[in-house]
Amino acid sequence: MDIMRAGMRDMDPEIDSLIHSELQRQRDGLELIASENFVPFYVLQAQGSVLTNKYAEGYPHKKYYGGCEFVESAEELAAKRACELFGAEHANVQPHSGTQANMAVYFSVLEPGDSILAMDLAQGGHLSHGHPLNFSGRLFRIIPYGVDRVTEIIDYDEVARLARDNRPKLIVAGASAYPRLIDFSRFAAIAEEVGACLMSDMAHIAGLVAGGVHPSPVPYSDFVTTTTHKTLRGPRGALILCRGKYAADLDRNVFPGMQGGPFMQVIAGKATCFLMAMRPEFKEYARQIVNNASALAGELASRGYRLVAGGTDNHMLLVDLRNKGLTGKEATEILGQVGITVNKNMIPFDPEKPMVTSGIRLGTPALTTRGMKEKEMSLVADAIDAALTYRGERAVMDRVASTVKDLAGSFPLYPEMERGYFSR
Ligand SMILES: *Cc1c(COP(=O)(O)O)cnc(C)c1O
Repeated sequence: MDIMRAGMRDMDPEIDSLIHSELQRQRDGLELIASENFVPFYVLQAQGSVLTNKYAEGYPHKKYYGGCEFVESAEELAAKRACELFGAEHANVQPHSGTQANMAVYFSVLEPGDSILAMDLAQGGHLSHGHPLNFSGRLFRIIPYGVDRVTEIIDYDEVARLARDNRPKLIVAGASAYPRLIDFSRFAAIAEEVGACLMSDMAHIAGLVAGGVHPSPVPYSDFVTTTTHKTLRGPRGALILCRGKYAADLDRNVFPGMQGGPFMQVIAGKATCFLMAMRPEFKEYARQIVNNASALAGELASRGYRLVAGGTDNHMLLVDLRNKGLTGKEATEILGQVGITVNKNMIPFDPEKPMVTSGIRLGTPALTTRGMKEKEMSLVADAIDAALTYRGERAVMDRVASTVKDLAGSFPLYPEMERGYFSR
């Protein structure tokens, strides 16, 4: 066999078949994981392009390798568009992931042992905001803040009190499981009062910020980090925005501080993603994500489900399942059986362990990308409720599974790929 010319199907039928099965899974199911999305075909194309062959350590016009003229132009375009999209002074488009973006910011403003005031993981924060096994929790002293026990909204008074008492060098605003708006201006006022830097991690809501349906953290923050693959609907990777005065420090901490060669094929995909997000159609998309989440919240509430913080302002909802006699783990498994993909999630002050949990997290970005609207959210809520209520009844579960498949099938995903992965 010519191992350079063979197609994937001949070279590696096992991986070819797994990719094909994954495409089928994505097509047939209802994707409600709040951090997932379906990228446009052109983002897949950029990522599968020859840019993957190029080493381009360093920054545009200061690259350490020859032959970078085209990839560095792609990088410049990506950074320029990111600044334009979010109104930022400086952008670094090289981080491979959101966690690494956060690491680069921490290394830009902190020394090991310094303190960070960040949202408690058990109440909605992210691993990279101080989990004891994550680099963040191992290298820095983490002071966690959380939500109010009654309203389940961030307790800004407590954030201010903790900031005054502990004088952290860095305050992190942002969450992975929080269904309400985040008041970045309030965080900025607290940071200013105690002389801390403010980093806003908008990984989950970046698409909503770009689309103008969530207030932007950019005017209020020293640094803004985000993934590009969640609501922003770009390639798997990350972006850091910062004030001009931090630009040189930040860039140095991304490369050579934390990474070697950037993924130029992903950076090209980011550039196209930012262009997409400036289009009026993307504003409509972002608006529809929020409308769908609020419709889904209403439908579930009317079927007796308790929503954390009483509902949603963004793309996600957290459902407290305790009154339904289910844990998050059980519900995730049951919904999986009918083709609905969700994740178990801690609710604030959860009595269950992280591997069990009392809740599930639902998000609408992926279903909205497929073209679903409020009307479909009511069908989705029906399916969720029927599966969770009649989980032991085979006939009902079969009926729900086929309804789910039909609903998904009426919103085609990647029709460009009729015969499998990248078949032409
Ligand atoms: C998803 C997420 C990240 C990082 O994601 P990676 O999986 O490392 O790309 C960082 N912060 C928040 C708030 C997130 O939700």
